[in-house]
Amino acid sequence: AKHLGGNTYRFFTRELRAYSLERLQLENQLRKAIEDNQLVVHYQPKLHLNDDSISGAEALVRWQHPQRGLVMPGDFIDMAEETGLIIALGDAVLHKACRQASHWYHQGPTPVCVSVNLSVQQLRQSHFARRVQHILEECQLPAEYLELELTESMFLEHVDAVAHNIAELRAMGIRLAVDDFGTGYSSLAYLKRFPVDTLKIDRVFVTDLGQHSQDAAITRAIIAMAHSLDLRVVAEGVERDVQLAYLKQYGCDEVQGYLISRPLSAADFTAMLQEHRGL
Ligand code: C2E
Ligand code: CA
Ligand code: CA
Ligand code: CA
Repeated sequence: AKHLGGNTYRFFTRELRAYSLERLQLENQLRKAIEDNQLVVHYQPKLHLNDDSISGAEALVRWQHPQRGLVMPGDFIDMAEETGLIIALGDAVLHKACRQASHWYHQGPTPVCVSVNLSVQQLRQSHFARRVQHILEECQLPAEYLELELTESMFLEHVDAVAHNIAELRAMGIRLAVDDFGTGYSSLAYLKRFPVDTLKIDRVFVTDLGQHSQDAAITRAIIAMAHSLDLRVVAEGVERDVQLAYLKQYGCDEVQGYLISRPLSAADFTAMLQEHRGL
């Protein structure tokens, strides 16, 4: 715009150039980080509400950056999606998570089903289901100890490979979960076409439970609907006792959140499993 004057224009281009240079550096660093094995996976426990046993763990990626320290996914996942690096990143996480699940299965202290987040870009690869099969075989992990977390929009992708992969993964005996349930599409028709095992109620509905909000009604309705379709329900982002009490009352199956535990390193998760079993 003319009225901003020349200096402002120069300012903006300088800012933009600095921004894209920083991004380019970050992109190159992430590419190298994936190759150099700087990605680490943390595990957040999920708890059965009926008996307080550990029902599984969600695998969450972190980047052990040589200068910046432990970088959280919020700082690099979007960039990874935009640059396509998410495919290599997702593959590395899947591999690490399966190796860890295999360790818990074969070495103990107890088997744990590990849930891994997927990007739609991974599902668009025609060979993705075969790749997962290969990883399971290499890790000697039974399929039932792997769950994949998909978001609602992935079930509505008009790409043949996506539908094919979802059906194939299910046929292999891998569990499927719908992540961030309730925040995406309002159509539930996909639940008929793609049988899944688990719905994860998004944190936004859990946050205000017990504070005279509509969220209680929504959470209750999601749980009732899920149960009538024979699906398990996991509530995410449980931080306070009052939320837990409501979720129990509504018959929610499992909970995950800071109230139970923050995501833990594999070593800390193993120690927690030992304590939990009284070993
Ligand atoms: P998400 O799949 O919804 O994962 C849950 C996020 O909520 C995690 O953040 C977790 O640490 C956080 N969280 C857990 N309990 C609580 C709680 O009680 N309160 C609050 N406020 N937050 C809680 P994180 O680890 O930073 O991951 C953020 C997002 O990054 C994930 O959201 C997921 O969408 C994405 N992500 C993480 N790892 C991967 C990955 O390996 N692949 C892909 N494609 N995405 C990933
Ligand atoms: Ca998730
Ligand atoms: Ca989620
Ligand atoms: Ca989310």
